[in-house]
Amino acid sequence: MARRGGSTGVGAFFRLLAGGGFVINGSVLPSAADLLRWYDRHRRILPWRALPGQSADAYRVWLSEIMLQQTTVTAVMPYFERFLAAFPDVGALARAPQDRVMALWAGLGYYARARNLHACAQVVAASGGRFPDTVEGLLELPGIGAYTAAAIAAIAFGRPVVPVDGNVERVTTRLFALTDPLPAARKAIARRAMTLNGDALARARPSDFAQALFDLGAGICTPRTPACVLCPWRETCAANRQGIAATLPRRAAKPVRPVRYGVHFYMVDSAGGLLLVRRPEKGLLGGMMGLPGPVWRDAPWSDTEAMAHAPTASRLRPQWHKVGQVKHVFTHFTLLVDVYAACVQSFPNSLVAAEGMVHRTGDDEVALPSLMRKCISLAQSAHVFD
Ligand code: SF4
Repeated sequence: MARRGGSTGVGAFFRLLAGGGFVINGSVLPSAADLLRWYDRHRRILPWRALPGQSADAYRVWLSEIMLQQTTVTAVMPYFERFLAAFPDVGALARAPQDRVMALWAGLGYYARARNLHACAQVVAASGGRFPDTVEGLLELPGIGAYTAAAIAAIAFGRPVVPVDGNVERVTTRLFALTDPLPAARKAIARRAMTLNGDALARARPSDFAQALFDLGAGICTPRTPACVLCPWRETCAANRQGIAATLPRRAAKPVRPVRYGVHFYMVDSAGGLLLVRRPEKGLLGGMMGLPGPVWRDAPWSDTEAMAHAPTASRLRPQWHKVGQVKHVFTHFTLLVDVYAACVQSFPNSLVAAEGMVHRTGDDEVALPSLMRKCISLAQSAHVFD
């Protein structure tokens, strides 16, 4: 039996196999029943995930999906719990001051996401506190791209779409033994992944099917050592049959990550206050608080060049000590930061007004990115003022 697969949205041809799988455009599509049976027994219990028989909460699903971009479930768990305790619903998050949101986000990285998260909460709260329930509606919101819209639509609203994250990409590459290297092959792999729910059972349980794919990728079809003997799709998986699963997906050689250079100044007063500045809104760590310093550049800094940017004021004669270098790896470059430290009796008002703020022990928590925390920790461990 063959039918045109308009229901998949890809114009594919299907044939149902006796064993439960499908043939799509000539390749075998694995059985949703096998995957869902496995998921019903082995699903992960996660704080944002509905238990069997419960409805998923769109706020929790959205929050978790934004946090999970670029990081792991283990890293996200404590942040998710803290956010939920501080902002139990989207209205509470929308009403919170941005600095409070940034402070709770500090350490998760990619701070533009936190600002978009806050902006998105405000848009949703302003329209009655309900998230749109379609992919198209979700895509209108700040910070929500194609993957996140599909994930929320499938998990929270039962829309029959396949969200394609790194796990689903890897599973798909192996199921069909796709050997074209990433990143060029990414779009073609995603198109193939979106056919995985061609089976009626997958489309009847879109939320479970999407999360089953995530769990399969995270727990069985892992990057280095896929546990194919435990996989519910081992019979239909082309890479398993060919013995090449662990070699997929292939990747084109990465270009060498460039190095950039920065200088930051750790300046304290005798009462333990720390001089901080707010970084420009645009650019990396935009809008976050940090140590003063010049714009990062492509060449190392000499001491003389660095000192030309040190915080200063008339009659202030800070004695600067170079305490070492911090290395921080961003997605597109590695940053090497020279850290200088100085202690002054007190900060002149003119300096504070020019630079930003002085943070004192006991003040409200300030959201500091990991890079700045590393610089502070290096300066403190140098004990130059002991
Ligand atoms: S059989 Fe192996 S490679 Fe294929 S989907 Fe399952 S775990 Fe991944």
